Amino acid sequence: MPEGPTVRKFSSLVCAFVGRSVLKVGGSTKQINPKDLMGQHFITCQVHGKNLYLLFGFEKPKAENKLLEEEGGTQSYPSGNHEETQEETQETSSAPSKSPRDPEVAEDDRVSRWLRFHFGLYGSVRANEFSRAKQGNKRGDWRDPTPRLILHFDSGGFLVFYNCRMAWCSSPFSEPSCDILNPDFDCEKALRALSMPRPVCVTLMDQRHFSGVGNIIKNEILFLAQIHPLSFGSLLPLERLRSLLDHAINFTSDWLRSKMQGKGLHYHVYQKEHCAKGHNLLKEAIGPPCGLKRLTWYCPECQPPLKSEDAV
Ligand SMILES: [Zn+2]
Repeated sequence: MPEGPTVRKFSSLVCAFVGRSVLKVGGSTKQINPKDLMGQHFITCQVHGKNLYLLFGFEKPKAENKLLEEEGGTQSYPSGNHEETQEETQETSSAPSKSPRDPEVAEDDRVSRWLRFHFGLYGSVRANEFSRAKQGNKRGDWRDPTPRLILHFDSGGFLVFYNCRMAWCSSPFSEPSCDILNPDFDCEKALRALSMPRPVCVTLMDQRHFSGVGNIIKNEILFLAQIHPLSFGSLLPLERLRSLLDHAINFTSDWLRSKMQGKGLHYHVYQKEHCAKGHNLLKEAIGPPCGLKRLTWYCPECQPPLKSEDAV
């Protein structure tokens, strides 16, 4: 499924439509009613980890400014700052009751809400184009992927969402300190998570600590840091954990940069048979005892298991 850098690339496509209104809708989704989006104003979008959030509402900027001023709010609308926008939304969603002074304004204010997208395998977003079949199926049919949601905007242009789950929510789940691509990512907190007595490959996939990291990033950074995926974080010296964390941050931001330039990514081990030194790679399904087991590629030579004398 798309990892943090890919979802940020989707976000850059989607952001070009901010400020426009939805004119026509389509798509096969049953998770929301696409018609609810008709006539809605696309206010802003955010990415948190692997989730994309779009804020929709009805455009009543003057009325909302007035309402905020009356209620002692200091921010004007619309706000250029994501956090401020979010605060406003939380304020809105936590106050569903109608204002006794102006019920009509409160009613309009209440309908701005976030649509959350979580992408599945091969999930994607396209702007002004549809995805086309790249190959035929077993019967030789060339069937194009089915869009889950299509949004046509005023003044032209459209967005198409493929293979994703979507749901309305009152505010984005946001913990910037855990989002590997967020400038507020908390390295010390991440180090504490990595030092837990469990395999580092499991911790790296834990979205509570490494939001945005997926299977590709996990495999690649463990190879770059030359750490065996099943090494317990509690047994690795701190400098090796720091090196793993540096690789995590650098690899993810490099991947984002090349995505934005339309370039591909060179894998060292992911879905490979040999490492750069020619060693045979191993492939194992590894995951938490009751959780999803993910395929893990690693080099037994370059990423040897910890010996007892290596442990801290
Ligand atoms: Zn190797």
